[in-house]
Amino acid sequence: MNNFTYHQAKNISDATSAAAQNKEAKFIAGGTNLIDLMKYRIENPDQLIDLTKLAFDKIENTKNGGLRLGALVTNADTAYHPEVEKRYPLVAKAILSGASAQLRNAATNGGNLLQRTRCYYFYDTATPCNKREPGSGCSAIKGFNRIHAILGTSEACIATHPSDLCVALAALDATVQVTGADGDRSIPFLEFHRLPGDTPAVDTNLRPDEVITAIDLPAQNFSKHFAYVKVRDRPSYAFAVVSAAAAIELEGDKIKDIRVALGGVAHKPWRKPEVEKKVIGKTANEATYKKLAEELIAGAEGFSHNAFKIPLVKKTIVRALTEAVAKNS
Ligand code: SF4
Repeated sequence: MNNFTYHQAKNISDATSAAAQNKEAKFIAGGTNLIDLMKYRIENPDQLIDLTKLAFDKIENTKNGGLRLGALVTNADTAYHPEVEKRYPLVAKAILSGASAQLRNAATNGGNLLQRTRCYYFYDTATPCNKREPGSGCSAIKGFNRIHAILGTSEACIATHPSDLCVALAALDATVQVTGADGDRSIPFLEFHRLPGDTPAVDTNLRPDEVITAIDLPAQNFSKHFAYVKVRDRPSYAFAVVSAAAAIELEGDKIKDIRVALGGVAHKPWRKPEVEKKVIGKTANEATYKKLAEELIAGAEGFSHNAFKIPLVKKTIVRALTEAVAKNS
């Protein structure tokens, strides 16, 4: 780990102006990923700006009938919050399928969005990696790529995003609230993370001086028919091989509204609203789910060790939608 200075931010403008003055600084809150990255010398900030005293530690109703998750609320407190459990059970389910109880007690909602890929080569500084060292190459494309992406990849990077929570937030059309040296802005969740393209070192559209202050959930919560199905190598404390968040609103046996977001398959949670629109009004049955699955992953491409993800994710989508419809119906 390199030497660094520590700054306890007193308020949001103190945090953003400290970051604007020092391009080598990093924000820290729970630190559950950043400290590991620093120990491995993948992240080498010369200053840590501690956000934990800022006032983004509440869960509260929004004026439009939704719910605001403070960026500094821990993942555990979010999952067990009565309003989240009751109104946004998909969020609670996704959080509780990730990490371990100890990590969820420390990790924050804002940090969850910013956690970095678990590509083995990204963490192995003896190997080339375009995300860690731009221009050095990608060791995974011709290496051991069992956990890697099948959608939205580039010649520069085939890493996946590791979060479970983010898959649920993508399905629910959450909005990320941020504040930077130039003021506040809202980022639709599907525009928050990036595909790798030729700049895989840049994971998100957040600017370096910007802090996530909250995640807003819309009024439409899909609390009746939802499912989060996570396929993983062991039953706990494992990242998704593939996962699917499904949410449906029904009118009789017809689909009135539907969302499907995927994890473990791309550099960001994978969702295609235009594909969902095509099944509105159709009967909620296996044939419809299979057709949606085919279109949602159209263009998927496997590498030497992960082609199995293509049939696996199709089955996971069908299972998630089947479970969502069976729930409470
Ligand atoms: Fe690095 Fe991405 Fe290649 Fe992994 S897949 S080695 S993170 S460039």
